[in-house]
Amino acid sequence: MRTRFAPSPTGHLHVGGARTAILNWLLARRHGGSFVLRVEDTDRERNVPGAEAGLLEDLRWLGLDWDEGPDVGGPHAPYRQSERTEVYREHAERLLREGRAYWCVCPPGEGDGERGACRCAGVLAPAEPPPGAAVRFRVPEGEEVVVDDAVRGRVVFGSDHVEDFVLLRSDGLPTYNFAAAVDDALMRITHVVRGSDHLNNTPKQVLVYRALGWEPPVFAHVPLILGPDRQKLSKRHGATSVAEHRRQGYPPEALFNYLSLLAWSSPSGEEKLPRGRLVAEVELDRVGASDAVFDRDKLRWLASRYLQEMPAEELARALAPFVDRERFPVADEDLPVVADALRERVSVLSEADAQLERFFGADAHRRAARERLLADPGARRVLAAVRARLAGLAEWEEGAIDRAVREGGRDAGARGRGLFLPLRLALTGEEHGPELPKVARVQGRERVLAALQFDEN
Ligand code: GLU
Repeated sequence: MRTRFAPSPTGHLHVGGARTAILNWLLARRHGGSFVLRVEDTDRERNVPGAEAGLLEDLRWLGLDWDEGPDVGGPHAPYRQSERTEVYREHAERLLREGRAYWCVCPPGEGDGERGACRCAGVLAPAEPPPGAAVRFRVPEGEEVVVDDAVRGRVVFGSDHVEDFVLLRSDGLPTYNFAAAVDDALMRITHVVRGSDHLNNTPKQVLVYRALGWEPPVFAHVPLILGPDRQKLSKRHGATSVAEHRRQGYPPEALFNYLSLLAWSSPSGEEKLPRGRLVAEVELDRVGASDAVFDRDKLRWLASRYLQEMPAEELARALAPFVDRERFPVADEDLPVVADALRERVSVLSEADAQLERFFGADAHRRAARERLLADPGARRVLAAVRARLAGLAEWEEGAIDRAVREGGRDAGARGRGLFLPLRLALTGEEHGPELPKVARVQGRERVLAALQFDEN
């Protein structure tokens, strides 16, 4: 099995494109085949500078690797159609020679012969192509194109409904339908798996295959992704690009898992499936034909499950860029501790700051609470006793902190509210909040001992 993902560098990688890429990658991995990445960049007007780099970054972030490219060995650059224009020209020339294509010049005022369908000024077979001419495919009359789509079933197109489409534009660059068909054939792609918005292009591509004497691949057109209102997924439904999800702190594994499920489902009915299971279970005949609805709550649920299971060190690394260290001065070595304390409370890492706020309290509240405690010798005696116990701890972790706090309370003859309220006020300035041992653990030893220090000098 040889599959491909063929993005055009016209913008960000959208979740729909990512789902297509993931499905192709999974199928290739499942069958020990190859996954090809091909950048379709021959429409100069639509190319966006920097978009290809963004696409590659997003694919890598999702953990998608591709198997070949124009260079030999090493990490492969993708195939780029702009580097293969010679190939398309040769095949267009062959079709011209065989009478399957012709040069077309539009009469003045009837468009450029490329996008708008003009009536060409006759079939031309010039020695020199006239300026401004495009090469058009001569669509045979009265032919049936039958596509046995692996997802949609049998779809029949009549060639009489297909206009003579452009193969090469007047600048010599190929159109999508021509370049994609030539490349899918020459790259020996066995399964063309893509969004159903391309179903209508399929007869044109099959006609090109036939004209060149090639056997078409298996086609599979995967349903579109809709928003909860069953309209095409768009900006107003929230984040739609992979990059936005990355910035919001979704773990890549969660997005990968979720987008896989938007294409097909496991026979087990399970929804949280690690990559290995997805590879083992993917099949084209598990891809449903009805449109998929993007369910952000489910994605968030999956994201929180992945965060909960991540090893502390890994979670800390993922968390680091999301913590505002000015507001929450957590040392690097304490980040795994913070990560552990937060893992059950955040679904996406961009929520870390709001959670940290609960652990640190607001500055103004802390200052006010300190004034209150300064005026309360009883509370300060309790805090001094707790501080003495905490200062002696060999390990700064919740169980030990909890025991030290209770021992300090015993030393000062305090327990319950008389112990915990002053402590909480001293640490966060708030009367309620997360469990105290967790708060102390997240704040770190130095900060806690300083907050419990009331003696002047
Ligand atoms: N370049 C096309 C796109 O981005 C690829 C379609 C295909 O997979 O054939 O939509």
